[in-house]
Amino acid sequence: MDCVEAKDLVQLYTDQELDLLRVVDVDKHLQSCADCRALYHQQHMLRSALRRDAGYHRATPELRERLRFALHAEKNGAKRPLGRWPKWWNAGLAVAAAVVLSVSVALYIVLPTSQDRLENDIVSSHVRSLMANHLSDVASSDQHAVKPWFNGRLDYSPPVNDLTAQGFPLVGGRLDYVDNRPVAALVYRHRQHTINLFVWPSTDAHEQKPRALSRQGYNLLRWTQRGMEFWAVSDLNEAELRQFVDNVSPLTEPRQG
Ligand SMILES: [Zn+2]
Repeated sequence: MDCVEAKDLVQLYTDQELDLLRVVDVDKHLQSCADCRALYHQQHMLRSALRRDAGYHRATPELRERLRFALHAEKNGAKRPLGRWPKWWNAGLAVAAAVVLSVSVALYIVLPTSQDRLENDIVSSHVRSLMANHLSDVASSDQHAVKPWFNGRLDYSPPVNDLTAQGFPLVGGRLDYVDNRPVAALVYRHRQHTINLFVWPSTDAHEQKPRALSRQGYNLLRWTQRGMEFWAVSDLNEAELRQFVDNVSPLTEPRQG
């Protein structure tokens, strides 16, 4: 993919409206091209600013009254419903109101909630790791090799356990990018199924029990524990994924030095 094509796609990429293959292509290009990466960051900031700052404003009583008149007049076909306001003004007002309304509605519909975006990110990262043949940056079943690998690559140390004895062997780990931050992805296997376990520091002070959801045919379990947020995703059925989570959960893990 070249810059011309990438620049065309960056907006759609930012809005998460590209299919996976395109996402992989754009990803690759962004990794190697600082210009396009800057453009992406710009788009991303704009999008975040819109989400954060696009407020809702109540119409003033005057505006509401005028709109009511305009709509009423339109219904009854009256000629000068608002007396001193010329007709073009009413028409203009109606158009402006329609534009404001449709922009608000569009923003509301188009912009996914942060929760949606996060779930999307998780599933996309999982699928991408399988498609792009990029399961792990450090391929090892040794937790004492995987855990230190993250040192210096992240500003936190994810809990890493080999669960071979429990039927979920550790395959490796990699850096991934979720929710606008680099995160640890730990890779486990169960029979032929791959499980990605994403871990990052939680912003929520409360611990949350594992909660299941499914998206695009994948099962997800998320929970927070000991200041970390965990997301497990796989094509495994929910019962077996829960079994995995029970084993990985730091409260039940064996103490290690
Ligand atoms: Zn480029």
